[in-house]
Amino acid sequence: AKRKGGDLFSFYDAENQTLLERQLTFESEIVSAIENNQFCAFFQAQVDADGKLCGAEALIRWNHPERGLVPPNEFISVAEQFGLIQKLQDIVLEDMCKLINLLEKKQALTEGFRLSINISHSQFRSLNFEQMLCDILKKHKVSASKIILEITESMLALDIEQTINQMSAIARLGFKFSIDDFGTGYSSLSNLHLYPVEELKIDKSFIDRITDEGGLSIVETIISLAKNLNMNIVAEGVENQEQIALLKARDLNVMQGYYFSKPLPMEDYIEWHCAHTK
Ligand code: C2E
Ligand code: CA
Ligand code: CA
Ligand code: CA
Repeated sequence: AKRKGGDLFSFYDAENQTLLERQLTFESEIVSAIENNQFCAFFQAQVDADGKLCGAEALIRWNHPERGLVPPNEFISVAEQFGLIQKLQDIVLEDMCKLINLLEKKQALTEGFRLSINISHSQFRSLNFEQMLCDILKKHKVSASKIILEITESMLALDIEQTINQMSAIARLGFKFSIDDFGTGYSSLSNLHLYPVEELKIDKSFIDRITDEGGLSIVETIISLAKNLNMNIVAEGVENQEQIALLKARDLNVMQGYYFSKPLPMEDYIEWHCAHTK
């Protein structure tokens, strides 16, 4: 029987399988879930300080026939471990391109609007990463300038020179980079200016604590760092007006969180988007 709780992979524990057997079961379940179109991207709006819609983040969902909507934390790391992340990322990229084209058709795609996508460690390191990005965009006739690639601090730490070269090559194609969950990793702040990064995303854990003195000073530090480096700042997980007031008073550019909208399936997102674009 399948257990509740833990990640999706953990319920295979109960079946007394070897690690290899569990891997194979998980792998084949994901593969058949892909074939059965159980994965898709949801989209969460980002608004600027004036409350204007300025972007959205794509977040993957698994619509599991028995478990319902499975959040990514329950399968992304396992999928990555088993080399399945590429296929999932293709789905998210495809959905993103579809969304951009649908919005364009409705004449609801404003000039500065950007879509953000989360890039996993192994993908970022894969040799054909750039090619894969270009192929999908070309297929859908979408411009790279519409896309922000979210990476994490830990991805910057390895082989600095090679990482800068790779990022620069991707940036020359028109993509922009954002550092996700900023402040939770161990990146060396002194090297940050060396990378072609346009944006820092302040992790929700700091926004949660922004009403404490300690939390607020961390947020202020990140904002002033970003300003000094000429980067945009996005606050993630904004849930109430108190947080918004504190962020606005500190000149924060962009906010994202349940206060504005939860991540929505594409159709619902388009509706929300159009209602907030006119
Ligand atoms: P993240 O990139 O930090 O994404 C933000 C997470 O916070 C999302 O969770 C989002 O639904 C949630 N969130 C946003 N605003 C609020 C709020 O106001 N309150 C609360 N309580 N939560 C909020 P989600 O969708 O479960 O994604 C979790 C993580 O999974 C993401 O964290 C990201 O690291 C990863 N992920 C999601 N989609 C993908 C993907 O397509 N590829 C990869 N590689 N990773 C992904
Ligand atoms: Ca993210
Ligand atoms: Ca993240
Ligand atoms: Ca986060």
